[in-house]
Order: sequence, then C-alpha cells, then structure tokens
Amino acid sequence: MTDATTADLVDWVRRFAALVSEHQAELTELDSEIGDADHGSNMARGMTAVLAKLDSDPPATPAELGKLVGMTLVSTVGGASGPLYGTFFLRVGAAAGASDALDAAALGAAVRAGVDGILARGKAQPGDKTMIDALLPAVDAWDAAAAEGASPADAARAASEAAAAGRDATIPLVARKGRASYLGERSAGHLDPGATSATLLLDALRDALADAA
Ligand code: ADP
Ligand code: MG
Repeated sequence: MTDATTADLVDWVRRFAALVSEHQAELTELDSEIGDADHGSNMARGMTAVLAKLDSDPPATPAELGKLVGMTLVSTVGGASGPLYGTFFLRVGAAAGASDALDAAALGAAVRAGVDGILARGKAQPGDKTMIDALLPAVDAWDAAAAEGASPADAARAASEAAAAGRDATIPLVARKGRASYLGERSAGHLDPGATSATLLLDALRDALADAA
C-alpha cells in the first residue's frame, strides 16, 4: 500500500503529455468527425507548454502542480477542452493541497473534486457525450475500490478500466454539449474526442502509480 506523492503526480502529468502526443492524430481524427478537428492539437499544444513549465519551475506540492498545469492549459488551449482540463487540474491540486502522502481515499477525493469542477464549469450531464462520460464512471470506480481498501495503484487501475468503458459507451450517444451538439442526431455513431483524451488521463495516472508501487 504505497501512498501517492507529489513526484507521482508530476509523473502522472508527464505521462499524460506523452500519451496525448502519441495519440494526437487519433484525437484530431475523432474531432474531425463530430467537431472542428483540433482536439489533438489543442491538447498537445497545452501539454507541451506544461512540460516546459515543469522543467523551468518544478512544483513542490500537489497544489503548486495543479496551479501550474491548470493555468497553463487555460492560457494555451483555445478550445472548450482547455478551460475544462484547466479547471480539473486546479481543483485536483487545491484538494490535495500540500500533502505528500495521498492514500487511495484522499487521491480519489482530489480527482473527484477535479471532475466536479468540470461539471460546474461545463454544465454537462452524464450521457451528453462529453469527457464527463469517461470521468464520472472512473471516479465512481475509484471510490468503490478505495472503500474496499485498494491501494492508489489498484484504484487507478479500476478507474482507467471504467473510463475506457465510459468512453466506448459514448459512441451511440447524441451530443448535447460542445461543438458536436451542433450535429444533433448525426453526432451518434462516433467516439467522443474528449472522453478519449480523458481516458488517457486515467491511463497516465494508472501507469504513474503502478510504477511507484
Ligand atoms: P472545441 O470543441 O472548442 O473545439 P476541443 O475539440 O479541444 O474543443 O474539445 C472537445 C471536447 O470537449 C468534446 O469532445 C467534449 O468531450 C468536451 N466538451 C465540450 N464541451 C463540454 C462541456 N460543456 N462539458 C464537458 N466536456 C465538454
Ligand atoms: Mg474541437
């Protein structure tokens, strides 16, 4: 049972940047089907800027990390996803504070605070075909695992599996938020780009914590 440290959370962010870069073309392709073909480039631009800041101004606490990532995404990503992911990281950092030993319950609560921030800012409901459809099942699975005594690494594994299932379940949905909603019924039959990047976010956390354990 290894608690998560600030270094683990920095590793999470670095791994998310790497996964976004690896999947940039796929994210943009998905957004070309039901949006404006910029989700991959939006996220890659933001996370590249985040990596530069991590090198120039290394954060000492989860709160500093959240502020660095959140402010950078808000200021470098033009699309809807920038403010939403930015809010996520700001809230995660604020909830984790200065702690350098987050158990599964504490880290799960911080991630849920981040998801609640996206809900408050974007006003999406479950089933609206957004990143929320990957993130909410993920935090629910995290809490269920933590309640049974799972380590952060095991809770993150459960969360990333639930995110992937939630992502895949966006295919038949009709979008009710964001640009994809302009397509109405024609948005059905496509994976949501934001739910796909949100699953990468959970995959990155799973991998960071698995390596730390
Ligand atoms: P834009 O739509 O401005 O081009 P992106 O292409 O970067 O921004 O991001 C699109 C993704 O953002 C969508 O696939 C969806 O998951 C997510 N999204 C859009 N609007 C909302 C919202 N109100 N709440 C939650 N997620 C949203
Ligand atoms: Mg877009």
